[in-house]
Amino acid sequence: MAEKIKKNTFYTKYPLSSVVLYNGSTILHFLLGGAGIYLSFSSWAGPLLAVIYLVFAFVQMYLIMPLTVCSRCPYYKLENGRCISALNLLSRRITTPGLPHDFLRRAKGPLCHNYQYLAALIVPVPLMLLGLVLNFSVALLVILGVVVLLLVERFLFLFPKVACIHCVAKHKCPNAAQMGLNK
Ligand code: SF4
Repeated sequence: MAEKIKKNTFYTKYPLSSVVLYNGSTILHFLLGGAGIYLSFSSWAGPLLAVIYLVFAFVQMYLIMPLTVCSRCPYYKLENGRCISALNLLSRRITTPGLPHDFLRRAKGPLCHNYQYLAALIVPVPLMLLGLVLNFSVALLVILGVVVLLLVERFLFLFPKVACIHCVAKHKCPNAAQMGLNK
């Protein structure tokens, strides 16, 4: 019973360990994705695609998200609050508050942030699979395996057990609803 109550607790301020786990997992995912893309293609194509991917992944997460999603999220205005990524703290420094109703726009439209976020996580996988066909190496195979594990870990553990379950926004978050985590 005590465990059940703990699991359903809303965090206005996530523990630092959860923030480090979430951001560490995200940054590792992006870096390994970039390394895998680099190894997947020979000559100039590998470095060029890796740089494009890394810039896109980090910019959508650590610039576009605080500018367009976090400014409309309940954590933006929470006194002494800290969300799972702690990007509410960055958002407060770089932009003004948005309309809470517009928080739903994170999952609306073909270029919405939700799709950008998913693309940053998933795109390295098919590129590395192609890379294994074109330029097989054990290192690339290992990196692909770790990225797939991080992807599975995110959806089976990080979101449901660490992030969304404790999120004060989960009842209005379209992402949580899409994953069935808004209960
Ligand atoms: S419910 Fe999950 S996806 Fe939605 S804002 Fe909270 S932590 Fe982020």
